[in-house]
Amino acid sequence: MFFVLILFLGCVSETKESAKEIKNKTTEPSQKQDTSGYPVKSSKNDAITEPPQSVLKTPLEKSAQVKQPAEKDTTFKNSSINRNIKVDIIVDTDSYSPTDSELNEFFRITNNVLVEKTDVEMKLVKIKRISYSEIKNSLHLSRPTYNDDVLNKIYESDTWPEFFIFLRADDSSATYGGYSISFARLSTCNRYKSPLNSRTDMVYGGVMDWKHTYSSCGYDRTDPKHLAHISNVSIGGECRNRKGTPCIYRSDFNYYMCDDSESLDSFYAENRYNFIATTAIHELMHNFGSDGNYDHFGTAKCAEIMGGHNYDDGTLNTSQKNAGICPKLFDVFNASYREC
Ligand SMILES: [Zn+2]
Repeated sequence: MFFVLILFLGCVSETKESAKEIKNKTTEPSQKQDTSGYPVKSSKNDAITEPPQSVLKTPLEKSAQVKQPAEKDTTFKNSSINRNIKVDIIVDTDSYSPTDSELNEFFRITNNVLVEKTDVEMKLVKIKRISYSEIKNSLHLSRPTYNDDVLNKIYESDTWPEFFIFLRADDSSATYGGYSISFARLSTCNRYKSPLNSRTDMVYGGVMDWKHTYSSCGYDRTDPKHLAHISNVSIGGECRNRKGTPCIYRSDFNYYMCDDSESLDSFYAENRYNFIATTAIHELMHNFGSDGNYDHFGTAKCAEIMGGHNYDDGTLNTSQKNAGICPKLFDVFNASYREC
């Protein structure tokens, strides 16, 4: 009998007063993750010793095993109650250079996840491309520069969104996939009122690693921003702590993934964007829970607030389709709405 505590992406849920506080939170040992992006079992689950579910196949068989997507889905789901949240995407061009069409596809999928879970759609207001280092240098601060400083500069003469997705590789996002930040900005109004305080002027954000790998296999992670492929089988905590699982190269993802049917058949492995889109929703939802990592899907805390049922059937797909977050938070988010 395993107690399953799913730690997902190591993101942070604190309403923060300073970036330093966030930094401290993201480095808590309890949030240490499998950087492959898999939900990681708690230490109580470390004893799982199931063998890899498939054996090494020839390259030809392996490539045939990867499913090709059927018809391209272009659906943009809409809210049945005509409700949206205003979203900006900010790209740190020091970290990445995604095309507009890549960002739009990512946004479409992110929207669809949110509509499905909350019946709120996302309205993309702006895509902003900035250089973090250029802004940092222009600030001439004598202390370390925080995300807040750079974001304040970016929005100096612009309207804040209700939620921003900041695509930037820093040590925390590259290690954990993403983390949640939020702050109050006077003169703004967010229609999704924070349940954690009485403020109506919160801005919610997620700092996200655009290139974060899901279920990646055989990588040296010494530098989380630049993974080096060094093994044909999983090492370290990869493949849900199943050392020795064969790796398979996914040309559609451009990296090696764990070659086991559960991960290859999972929601995140369907396309390049499901994982990061769901991570964005995960980071947004953290702002509507008060229990940090205990707000994650499948936790005892989640079972408690869901009336004794945590909805965890132990499959990757159920966790992934709930963005790794306790489903209660979708309801809290929905109920937080009021007009400005
Ligand atoms: Zn989280």
